[in-house]
Amino acid sequence: MAQWLDAQVLENHRWNPTLFSLRLKAPPFDFVAGQFVRLGLEGPDGRVQRAYSLVNSPSDPTLDFLVTAVPGGKLSPSLDNLQAGDSIQVSQPASGFFVLDEVPDGNSLWLLATGTGLGPYLSILGTESPWQRFQHIKLVHGVRFASDLAYRERLEQMQKDNPGRFQYLPVVTREKVAGALQGRLPDLLASGELENATNETLSHDCQMMLCGNPDMIRDGLKVLAEKGLQKNLRRQPGHVTVEQYW
Ligand SMILES: Cc1cc2nc3c(=O)[nH]c(=O)nc-3n(C[C@H](O)[C@H](O)[C@H](O)COP(=O)(O)OP(=O)(O)OC[C@H]3O[C@@H](n4cnc5c(N)ncnc54)[C@H](O)[C@@H]3O)c2cc1C
Repeated sequence: MAQWLDAQVLENHRWNPTLFSLRLKAPPFDFVAGQFVRLGLEGPDGRVQRAYSLVNSPSDPTLDFLVTAVPGGKLSPSLDNLQAGDSIQVSQPASGFFVLDEVPDGNSLWLLATGTGLGPYLSILGTESPWQRFQHIKLVHGVRFASDLAYRERLEQMQKDNPGRFQYLPVVTREKVAGALQGRLPDLLASGELENATNETLSHDCQMMLCGNPDMIRDGLKVLAEKGLQKNLRRQPGHVTVEQYW
């Protein structure tokens, strides 16, 4: 059964007016990189709780969550308003199967995210497992505006530190940005632009992870199936592992 831990906000780091990283101090608990917990705030009708992916790696004691404030949402606008020192509740144990243990072996690991779907990949990349298991890692982050490219500096540094092994590809839909592709991720997969940009042809040597917006996941699965890459299921291992946020 879920237990609730009392946590304190250390920082509400703003990326732009509606995108923020909540950093929390909480009693330590175990989780696997890629999993999520629930964040809860007491309201007039009781606790309001929603699922959020852990951005920090299991070895990092400061909990980190990348959150977008959904207009009219029941919880995320209240999270947006939190300040250092405020209280919040965190559920544990952490849950979810969007973890590398569920991903079969391959040569390349492709991590595709829209928006806050980036979070679990940062946690995974902070562990040894992807670097031990995959020769090449590509992280594709699709957003609307350049200011939505959270953690960009960290990822650019990771690319510099791992030349030829790790590629970071920002993708922006609503403005032209130097160094970024433009378009929806499923379209860039279908047209071959992502393959051109990474210099790798999608094949059965690739394992794909898709996280975030349900439309991207639905359309991405369709395009990838047309390229011969099927959804990864426990009963039938495949090449595409997904986590849908809503
Ligand atoms: C496994 C899992 C992990 C998640 N991890 C994260 C995370 O790391 N960061 C994060 O911001 N959200 C994450 N979410 C979504 C989160 O749980 C909430 O749904 C979201 O914050 C909206 O909650 P709310 O109470 O403000 O909105 P609600 O009142 O619950 O309204 C929900 C509606 O908001 C819309 N919506 C939900 N999420 C988004 C979004 N990210 N962008 C745009 N529209 C959205 C949908 O239309 C949905 O029907 C995750 C969801 C799941 C299932």
